[in-house]
Amino acid sequence: MPDVTGTDGIIVVAGAGGFIGGHLVTSLLRAGHRRVRAVDSKPLSQWHQTPPEAELIEADLRQLDACQRAVAGASTVFNLAADMGGMGFIEYHRADCMLSVLVSTHLLVAARDGGVERFFYASSACVYNSEKQGVSDLQPLKEEDAYPAMPEDGYGWEKLFTERMCRHFSHEFGLVTRVARYHNVYGPLGTWDGGREKAPAAICRKVAEAVLSGIHEIEIWGDGEQTRSFMYIDDCVEGTLRLMESDFGDPVNLGSDRLVTINQLVDLVEAIAGVKLKRTYNLSAPMGVRGRNSDNTLLRKVLAWEPQTSLEDGLEKTYRWIFDQVSRCRSDLDPARR
Ligand code: NAD
Repeated sequence: MPDVTGTDGIIVVAGAGGFIGGHLVTSLLRAGHRRVRAVDSKPLSQWHQTPPEAELIEADLRQLDACQRAVAGASTVFNLAADMGGMGFIEYHRADCMLSVLVSTHLLVAARDGGVERFFYASSACVYNSEKQGVSDLQPLKEEDAYPAMPEDGYGWEKLFTERMCRHFSHEFGLVTRVARYHNVYGPLGTWDGGREKAPAAICRKVAEAVLSGIHEIEIWGDGEQTRSFMYIDDCVEGTLRLMESDFGDPVNLGSDRLVTINQLVDLVEAIAGVKLKRTYNLSAPMGVRGRNSDNTLLRKVLAWEPQTSLEDGLEKTYRWIFDQVSRCRSDLDPARR
């Protein structure tokens, strides 16, 4: 496990109540870091993970003073805080997504003024020019394909803007910044219902519900032939830590480069669950771009590493965890079992 500080300073994880932030905090603690400060605006009861060894803080990081308190004494900051979700969320909440710029800006300013040594920013494949993603069997996206800029409206513009802020904070203020463009991350201990879940979690939940209810049907958003790549959470955390330790300052893709259609993703989850479901296609649901894949040439060059977990293995673990969550909810709702 890389040493992300090189000093005894405090490591701050912003957005630690969320999916990736929660796993990152746990991973840092497992690696022996004892001064991990986990910050999120959600009430603690809603965090996905609350390891007691970390300093757990509820704070709205859109406020500059909250950011200043969050980074006080810190040497390293990971910014994973954002108002975000799957396509069902970001297509209808563009202004909310763009308001994450307040978190990004204030955290960068507080880090610069507070003497932070290294700053990580979680960007997204949504920064890529949407005109280059119009077909399902597209060429994988290289880092330079973000320009000329035409990212996902709302969410993608905020990500691209913050990437540029990191670049200029680095050049003009000397703050060392690292930027990963995550491509669809999935795994246990993330959002699996409520409207913010992404495709792998939504599909695992729908398959689990079909298994548990005995109603063997599934609704798929779009025609199911749109393509994506999916990275397991452990790879995301490892790649993030490796990038933070590297000497590379420009944005880098961090994702799997195995392209699958949504129909193929459903095939895989059905095989894990041991069912075959009748599919209906909701053609008016949000779908995002037609195709998106990660070109990992730069990632391999910079880190001498790339994501390792097969989609089959990652989905197996994710499905098992979501199946348990769905079962527990169904038991809670069943008056006979209360
Ligand atoms: P998540 O929604 O699970 O976690 C984000 C966390 O940020 C949430 O817990 C939320 O409460 C917190 N947050 C939002 N506004 C805040 C504020 N004002 N102050 C403090 N905390 C605030 O999302 P995630 O999947 O863990 O994503 C983490 C980061 O990675 C985000 O920046 C996201 O845009 C980026 N990303 C994720 C994916 C993915 O597939 N999950 C893909 C690309 C980029």
